[in-house]
Amino acid sequence: MSTRTPLMAGNWKMNLDWKQGLALVEELGDQLKGVSTDTVEVAVLPPFVDLRTVQMVVEADKLPITYGSQDVSAHESGAYTGEVSGSMLKALGATYTTVGHSERRQHHAETEEVTNAKVKASFAAGLVPILCVGEPLEERQAGKHVEYTLAQLTGGIEGLDAEQAKQIVIAYEPVWAIGTGEVATPDDAQEVCSAIRDALRGLYGNEVADAARVLYGGSVKSSNVVELMGKEDVDGALVGGASLKAEEFAKIAGFQ
Ligand code: PEP
Repeated sequence: MSTRTPLMAGNWKMNLDWKQGLALVEELGDQLKGVSTDTVEVAVLPPFVDLRTVQMVVEADKLPITYGSQDVSAHESGAYTGEVSGSMLKALGATYTTVGHSERRQHHAETEEVTNAKVKASFAAGLVPILCVGEPLEERQAGKHVEYTLAQLTGGIEGLDAEQAKQIVIAYEPVWAIGTGEVATPDDAQEVCSAIRDALRGLYGNEVADAARVLYGGSVKSSNVVELMGKEDVDGALVGGASLKAEEFAKIAGFQ
């Protein structure tokens, strides 16, 4: 039986200013009162400018919510205008950094080399990266979705030691399912999540493969989360649109 604690992480993307973020976290805290958070971890991934607010509410109200960023600089500090370092995020009490989201890969030309540097920078700052991988529609139609996704995985984790590989969170997010309302079937999600775990097993052995959490992301809602979570290698969800509504996100978190 798996000992992995499910992780439900809400990616707010470029939505909600700090006041709206404050209202959402407060409401989520209220909604989570009805959810057994002993057996599931709930995280939010707000825009950088909302993180201080989230930190203050979570700490003041002792909410069962962890949080992190949607991106991180590959660099430690210095002349990188517009970037935010891992140590700055750590100082805000962040647990996670999202790395290699398909929107970063698409709009900011993030390559495997960049995601790998960001994964390493996250660990160096004491943060846990959520590395996003997943194929565009053409690759799925060509039957190359597993191969494509595993290439992103191995490029992104290159050079990690076993301890880091055990901690990392991998989010399988087929690009065609992100923000489209078109969710992968539970079997589709399981196929790739299990291939990801097998790849970790091949590279690092059983202990790492059995510990690392592999999430599914792409149009997750309260109406489809139970079936997805019923799959052996799906350890949680990366949720975009549905994480902007406290009640809906709390229902997703309370899938059990
Ligand atoms: C995401 O932002 O990673 C995502 C999966 O979005 P959505 O749930 O809206 O498809």
